[in-house]
Amino acid sequence: MSVATQSERDGTATPDEPRVRLRQQGLRCTPGRLRVLTLLMVSGRHLSITETWEELTRAGEAIHPATVYRTLETLTAVGVTHAVHGPGPTRYGATGDPHHHTVCQRCGAVAALSGEHLVEAAARIEELTGLRPDSSGSFLVSGRCARCSG
Ligand SMILES: [Zn+2]
Ligand SMILES: [Zn+2]
Repeated sequence: MSVATQSERDGTATPDEPRVRLRQQGLRCTPGRLRVLTLLMVSGRHLSITETWEELTRAGEAIHPATVYRTLETLTAVGVTHAVHGPGPTRYGATGDPHHHTVCQRCGAVAALSGEHLVEAAARIEELTGLRPDSSGSFLVSGRCARCSG
């Protein structure tokens, strides 16, 4: 688990931060890596490879889907991003403050979930089951998102 910077806590990632994050992991700041990581950090969303590619293309960035795929694999391998395996395609999010996830069983949308009570819940789960979540351990709450339950 890494220490969150001030801007992560505020949710205001500056454009420089993706660069810093890549360098910290010894990764070169290629344009593809910067684009993908900036999108995930700034939006705070969890996106699939296709969604990431679509968002970047819509924003006028020329990037190949295979580059998006390779980039997310690389970033996830070093922990700069993390993968959430739900019912749909794997979603990726920028790694910042520890958080949990919700996943929609219908459309596969993944969203971040955090809150003090979840820290208590994790402690209670350990008490009850002996399972101690590791640094990648998080709750994955499944259900139907607001859009799909309408
Ligand atoms: Zn996440
Ligand atoms: Zn949904």
